[in-house]
Amino acid sequence: MQYSRYKDEHAITCLLCRHYCTLKEGKHGICGTNFNEGGKFINKTYNHPSAVHIDPIEKKPLYHFLPGSTSLSLGTVGCNFRCPFCQNYSISQTSAIDTSIVYTPQDLVDLALKHKTQSISYTYNEPTIFYPYARDIGMLAKEHGLKNVFVSNGFESPEVLEDMVLWVDAANIDLKSFSHEYYKKVLKADLDGVLDTLRFLARSPIHLEVTTLLVPDNNDSDEEIEKMARFMAEELGCDIPWHLSAFHPDYKMLSTHATKLSTMERAREIAKSFGIEHVHLGNVFSAI
Ligand code: SF4
Repeated sequence: MQYSRYKDEHAITCLLCRHYCTLKEGKHGICGTNFNEGGKFINKTYNHPSAVHIDPIEKKPLYHFLPGSTSLSLGTVGCNFRCPFCQNYSISQTSAIDTSIVYTPQDLVDLALKHKTQSISYTYNEPTIFYPYARDIGMLAKEHGLKNVFVSNGFESPEVLEDMVLWVDAANIDLKSFSHEYYKKVLKADLDGVLDTLRFLARSPIHLEVTTLLVPDNNDSDEEIEKMARFMAEELGCDIPWHLSAFHPDYKMLSTHATKLSTMERAREIAKSFGIEHVHLGNVFSAI
């Protein structure tokens, strides 16, 4: 696919996410990693992961896709969101790329085959911002019979979503809130875009699961959980699994307490009352 579009003689438009940044000559976009070099689009994290691990697929979390399998998991640096509760902020909220670490797409596929994982996961930070790298790894992985998993905040551009159908097998997408204002002011993104992505994926051949981190006093009111549950049930389908995950103090929210177990259980009851069939509580070890 085409990752950028000519804007004018001084700038190109990045087509990877819904920010559609204008990249002026010599400048980065919001994610800090996609760049205009002489009118050419450069994904600066290409070949430079910040982390590579072998994880259980349940850690993505995916509970209804290749259960019991392992997944070679990688991330880079940077993000197109600014979540103050980010639990991976040391890689997501930096644009410092360690170029001494080099893993080509072939290296990563070889590693997955060597360790007999059934899939490769693009995770830890937002994979949409390193889509050119993820796609090259994924296409090669597919040729070798491996599956591809996208763990994302759901802000992919429609162009990327159409392209993902060619090579992505499963996705876990965050629904972080049901407030337009919260997405805009706090996360620096847009709720409608995320809802569009969820609707698209629910109708696509890509296996979809959804995750919501319940952050005390941010998105854990009955009213907001009900809005999310209604959207899940009415627009995505009651068979789409929903992971409710407990927050622990992190990054810019060190003074906010961990999510209470009673909150998690209340959210699960609300989800069930809307008919959602698979509701999973996550990180409950940190719930109090
Ligand atoms: S990936 Fe998104 S945030 Fe990054 S440059 Fe492209 S449009 Fe901007």
